[in-house]
Amino acid sequence: MPSIFTKIIQGEIPAHKIAETEDFLAFLDINPLAKGHTLAIPKKEIDYIFDMEDDQLAGLMAFAKQVAKAIEKVVPCERIGISVIGLEVPHTHVHLIPINDIGDMNFSKPKLSPSMEELAELAGAIRKHYAK
Ligand code: 5GP
Repeated sequence: MPSIFTKIIQGEIPAHKIAETEDFLAFLDINPLAKGHTLAIPKKEIDYIFDMEDDQLAGLMAFAKQVAKAIEKVVPCERIGISVIGLEVPHTHVHLIPINDIGDMNFSKPKLSPSMEELAELAGAIRKHYAK
């Protein structure tokens, strides 16, 4: 069965997309830890990041870097934190989270529930800064 993220790639489930290449997709997390929390994923469905081919893994990181640069132009923050967990969705995803202190990367804290309108507006603003 395809992962929920493959369904997003295929357009079966809506998402607030930030950037897309032949191999990768970035979109806003639906329940962010912080405003601008974005997921960068490979289009090829692989559960565990360290099962990815080296070139695909390097490509995902380079893609995440470009996405992070766009996020930080829109969301005021000290820097973009990066984390990979993957215990909920079995499709590799890199969390990109605007942070100001270490606590902002605490995945145990309550998540935010922005409206679809807020997510759409934010995604649009970040998209404008993504360098293809
Ligand atoms: P993890 O697998 O790394 O523990 O977390 C999965 C992440 O995916 C969570 O932050 C969760 O909010 C996000 N997520 C789960 N389902 C969806 C979805 O359908 N759309 C979006 N945009 N994010 C999702």
